[in-house]
Amino acid sequence: MHKKIGILGGMSPESTVEYYQYITRAYTERFGDYGYPEVIIYSVSFQPYVDWPNQDRWDLVAQGLSEAAQKLEAAGADFIVIATNTMHLVFDQVQVNVAIPMLSLLDAVGDAILARGMETVGLLGTKFTMEKSFYQDALSRKGITVLVPDEQEREFVNGVIYDELVAGQIRAESRAGYVAIIEKLAERGAEGVILGCTEIPLLVNEEDAGMPLFDTTVIHAEAALNYALA
Ligand code: GLU
Repeated sequence: MHKKIGILGGMSPESTVEYYQYITRAYTERFGDYGYPEVIIYSVSFQPYVDWPNQDRWDLVAQGLSEAAQKLEAAGADFIVIATNTMHLVFDQVQVNVAIPMLSLLDAVGDAILARGMETVGLLGTKFTMEKSFYQDALSRKGITVLVPDEQEREFVNGVIYDELVAGQIRAESRAGYVAIIEKLAERGAEGVILGCTEIPLLVNEEDAGMPLFDTTVIHAEAALNYALA
């Protein structure tokens, strides 16, 4: 039997649904039947997870996500994926509160970058993802250098995520803004760019950008599927 996947989601629902759809569709594409792993989704109410980071209350984020993870564990999940980049800031604090393993998005993304033979990549995400050190630290442990946009660009990237993408709004002018920022990262030496927020792949793809992009939603969902089947 496959392992039961626990998705800690709702941050935002727009990307949680992508995990679920990817896991089930990728299974059927690979094996031709509908025998995909069972999936349990715990979707938090998103507003506190917008407010607490802005108040720098990562202790409350860790506590809330730990309680949610325990609910997934109690419901029978064999392992958990936290379906957001930003919340990996408290990954270790959540993991200690459940007995089942959690699959880190950062590990999966780092491995995907190494598999492409890249050493320097750009990173787009929320301001927390771009400005706190957790993401760059995790990737530098794998020998990967991470470049982030300048302050004004980070403000723009973050604003599009919270004002548009998490509400399911896809705007051509925001896509153009992202592509311009990706081009500047490439000029600074990025060989590829991490779409380090699980909603960004809804806005921009490799064709738009004209360079390799790391879709963290697909990478993490694929890791979850493979782990469930292993
Ligand atoms: N889904 C986003 C991410 O991957 C941002 C939403 C959030 O968790 O604050 O970082």
